[in-house]
Amino acid sequence: MGGAKPKHKYVMSRRLICQCGYKIVSTNSKNGLYYSCPARRRRANYCRICAFLFSASKVDAVIWDWVKEFFENPELLRQGIARYQAQQENRVAPIRERVKAIEALIKEQEMDLNEKQSVLEDLKQRKASEPKPVS
Ligand SMILES: [Zn+2]
Repeated sequence: MGGAKPKHKYVMSRRLICQCGYKIVSTNSKNGLYYSCPARRRRANYCRICAFLFSASKVDAVIWDWVKEFFENPELLRQGIARYQAQQENRVAPIRERVKAIEALIKEQEMDLNEKQSVLEDLKQRKASEPKPVS
C-alpha cells in the first residue's frame, strides 16, 4: 500500500468493541501505542481478549487494508452497507413491536376511559332530570 498512514494516532479508539462489551480504548505505553479493553483495569467481566494489549499500528494497518478493500470494490461496499442496514433493522424490530403493543394498550385504555366518561355523563343527566324530593 505504501504511505497511506492514518493522520490520527488512535484511529480506532472507542470504535472497536471488546468481546465483553466495553469500547476498546487507546493506551500510550512506553513501548508505543496500544489498544486495550477498559475491563483490563476495571477487572469487571474480564474475558480472554480483555487481557491483551494490541499494537495500534498493527491493528490500524489491518483496518486500513480492510477499509481500502471496500473503496476499491464498490459492490463489496454496497453489500456491507446492506448487511449493516439489515442488522440495524433487526435491532430496532423488537423495539418497534414493543411500541406498537404500548400504543394498542393506550388506545384500549382511552376507549375504556371514554366509555366510563359517557356512563358518568349519562348518570349526571339522569340525576338532573329526576324530580327533586319534596322536603
Ligand atoms: Zn473486554
